[in-house]
Amino acid sequence: AKTAGRNTYRLFDPKMQACISERAALDADLRLALSEQQLRLYFQKQVSHDGHTVGAEVLLRWQHPQRGLVLPDQFIPLAEDSGQIVAIGAWLLLEACQQLKLWQSDPQHSTLTLAVNVSAGQFRQSDFVEQVKHALQTTGAHADHLKLELTESTALDNVDDTISKMNALKTLGVRFAIDDFGTGQSSLSYLTQLPLDQIKIDQSFVRHIGRRPQDTLIVQTIIGMAHNLGMEVIAEGVETQAQCDFLVKHDCLLFQGYLFGRPVPLEDFNLNAADK
Ligand code: C2E
Ligand code: CA
Ligand code: CA
Ligand code: CA
Repeated sequence: AKTAGRNTYRLFDPKMQACISERAALDADLRLALSEQQLRLYFQKQVSHDGHTVGAEVLLRWQHPQRGLVLPDQFIPLAEDSGQIVAIGAWLLLEACQQLKLWQSDPQHSTLTLAVNVSAGQFRQSDFVEQVKHALQTTGAHADHLKLELTESTALDNVDDTISKMNALKTLGVRFAIDDFGTGQSSLSYLTQLPLDQIKIDQSFVRHIGRRPQDTLIVQTIIGMAHNLGMEVIAEGVETQAQCDFLVKHDCLLFQGYLFGRPVPLEDFNLNAADK
């Protein structure tokens, strides 16, 4: 290694080595997370312009015995790489449908839609449709209030396969949203082929509303496009009243963000007040 050039030397950078061991340690711990029941469902409300909570997005958290609450950006990519995402995703679908069933049996919550993130590795499984059916059947949840969120890259990885899976689930009543819209390099014409119900405007655009003209324009364009395609549009990462006002003015009437509530465990999920 001593004679190697600068680039090779970096492989032995102690910082990077520490980073790799850290990843390996987290990966090993993650193998226990499911069986030890350390994964938690958090819920972030989705609201309409008239102030009603129309649903929630499920966001995963890992209650690690030593590290405390670990955020998904730190373990979902790891789970994708190791393939553990398949088991985690199947478990998550069951848990989410179980919660949906509870809501559907309770008049106060019966109209809520529950949005669940689907990862690429999970969606790619040949039995993905069966997995969703299984979760719906074993819990007795109605499909029409289940919404699956796919990112552009997941959805466009194999368009024909995506369309056939989506159609199979749509006949059951399951709804679909495209997540982080506008951040991918995908061609718009591909996206319009998908039987989508909703577009989620990525928070990176929402953040700059009124500040960066190009992002403001992108937001307006996405809203217009969604409406022209007959799709719902929701903005994520809404943090300020000014952002909200702009969105309403441009006819985006659904929101998710800290302005209305943070992701919280079920016991703190409150339909009327902001979840702080
Ligand atoms: P995402 O699906 O785009 O989820 C939105 C993220 O934005 C969440 O981060 C949420 O907590 C955060 N957020 C919501 N409102 C605001 C706001 O007003 N301001 C700011 N700054 N952030 C806001 P979180 O929970 O850390 O999740 C990060 C990502 O991890 C998610 O992005 C999603 O891609 C992935 N993820 C989370 N849960 C799951 C899951 O159950 N399955 C899969 N496959 N991926 C998940
Ligand atoms: Ca999402
Ligand atoms: Ca998103
Ligand atoms: Ca995101």
